[in-house]
Amino acid sequence: MKKSTEILIIGGGVTGCGILFDAAQRGFKTLLVERGALSNGTSGRFHGLLHSGGRYAVKDPVAARECIEENQILRRIMPHCIEDTGGLFVSAPSDPPDFGDTFAAACREAGIPVEEISVAEMLRREPLLNPQIRRAFAVPDGSVETWEACQSLVDSAAEFGAETLLYHEIVDVLTQDGAVVGAVAKNVITGQEITIEADMVVNAAGAWGGRLARMTGCDVTVNAGKGTMIAMNYRMVNTVINRCAPPGDGDILVPVGTVAVIGTTSVGVPNPDDYPIEDWEVELMLTKGAEMIPTFAKFRALRAWAGVRPLYQEKEAGADLRQVTRNYALLDHSDRDGVDNFVTITGGKWTTYRMMAEKTMDLVCRKLQTERPCHTAETVLQSHDPGKYFTVGQRLDKVETGQAEGQLICECELVTRPQIERRLAASDRNIINDLRRDLRVGMGPCQGGFCTYRVAGIMHENQNISAAEANKALVDFLQERWKGIQPVLWGQHLRQMQLDEGIYLGLLGLDKLPVQLSGTDTARIGEVETEGYFEIEAGDTPAPAGGSS
Ligand SMILES: Cc1cc2nc3c(=O)[nH]c(=O)nc-3n(C[C@H](O)[C@H](O)[C@H](O)COP(=O)(O)OP(=O)(O)OC[C@H]3O[C@@H](n4cnc5c(N)ncnc54)[C@H](O)[C@@H]3O)c2cc1C
Repeated sequence: MKKSTEILIIGGGVTGCGILFDAAQRGFKTLLVERGALSNGTSGRFHGLLHSGGRYAVKDPVAARECIEENQILRRIMPHCIEDTGGLFVSAPSDPPDFGDTFAAACREAGIPVEEISVAEMLRREPLLNPQIRRAFAVPDGSVETWEACQSLVDSAAEFGAETLLYHEIVDVLTQDGAVVGAVAKNVITGQEITIEADMVVNAAGAWGGRLARMTGCDVTVNAGKGTMIAMNYRMVNTVINRCAPPGDGDILVPVGTVAVIGTTSVGVPNPDDYPIEDWEVELMLTKGAEMIPTFAKFRALRAWAGVRPLYQEKEAGADLRQVTRNYALLDHSDRDGVDNFVTITGGKWTTYRMMAEKTMDLVCRKLQTERPCHTAETVLQSHDPGKYFTVGQRLDKVETGQAEGQLICECELVTRPQIERRLAASDRNIINDLRRDLRVGMGPCQGGFCTYRVAGIMHENQNISAAEANKALVDFLQERWKGIQPVLWGQHLRQMQLDEGIYLGLLGLDKLPVQLSGTDTARIGEVETEGYFEIEAGDTPAPAGGSS
């Protein structure tokens, strides 16, 4: 199979999606290829903070200024993806006492609105914060919904004719006479390959950018810096809380939807696809959380996960990754490596994706010798609810006022059957994780215990798939959830998971049901292992035709 395009973008994180929209709006024929779902990489595993720039104000004023400028632009163009939580920088007893004045002066210098509030006012706004905190500064931080944002970018780009290929991995970048001429994409579900001819290839593969560049013979070092976060079961603050101190581990707490997320660590890992969550990281996050909120440990840790920062270095980084720049790098490989029609963009922050996309497309335009201005800073993206900030009570309000019609399938995240059916009808894939990303199904405190089997049942009924295929979708989802649950399995959460195990293994007997593997092969799930909820053991049990899951 063959396709051709003017601009081929590799990577469906926020940077790639931003470039797709920018390029399409400038009138280019544009195609994005992503090996998983949108936000499959770091953009779906980050902290969710729309930076005001406060975090960088003292150490990196350029980054701080970029953040506040982009923060203000994103509030205009994608308010439906932003919760206007505001942020507080708080001086805990162990933080340097004079940092507050340096911080406030640096914020003002970078153009970040900052206001010192009294500790009494801080406690009025956030009663669970540590009363020992000495000073508090309010800044315009926010909380962002990444899946909604990437989908809006892709939908808005589609209006200009852009195409997106998900679950396709670029396995080769094609070169001819020192220039890139396209790439080969492999469908990760069917194995089918597509050759894509392109005038320009943009490598927006984040922490995987070095691997992609090497396919063209270019040597690009992108260090993977793992950052671990923990979602707590309770939204214990409505404001983003940052420590008023030089950046360190576990110093930010972000309210994200119905939960609060503490993070992060910063540890170099050799492989961005395979890294453990260490016990010390979990313990450190809980200890740091308690420095901000004394009752922190009384709440339930729901899941732990990590993302990998794409940290670009011309030379190998030293051991301390917090010293490696968080700025973005835009590489023109014809200047740098003698390979034409190929550009790499990596590093930066979620908050600055739009600016990075603009700079990338400015470079692409110069290389293609065409003048096409950028309009992304003035264009409001597509949304179902235009012009309004996201608020956490929106869904409940819709349910209580009868605007959310149909049966409630996920009670934690208030997702209804018609919402699930609409999303299923728009896709030809039976992946419950896609529904989690789109609708937040299974993200709440029960971690899918009560809703996932219902979703699999709806899939089976609506998509006309076999019971073994629906079981496979169910098992895939539960196994993926398990990865994040396992590092925080104690106390009430352990009890919750024992209940989930009772539902799936005791009541539904999922470990004895057939599961569709590739082609017509099926397997039964073996006995529960201590390390994993479900471990599939390949076998050759024929799948029953139809049947109920
Ligand atoms: C722990 C952590 C917390 C963070 N918190 C924040 C925060 O709160 N606020 C903020 O502004 N920034 C934050 N960041 C930074 C921010 O998340 C990243 O800078 C940003 O998400 C990077 O987006 P990206 O699109 O460049 O990369 P990614 O989102 O990683 O996208 C790259 C994509 O390329 C795809 N890909 C790779 N190889 C191939 C291939 N061969 N074929 C096809 N596709 C491929 C991957 O699947 C991936 O989806 C955080 C980062 C980390 C690690």
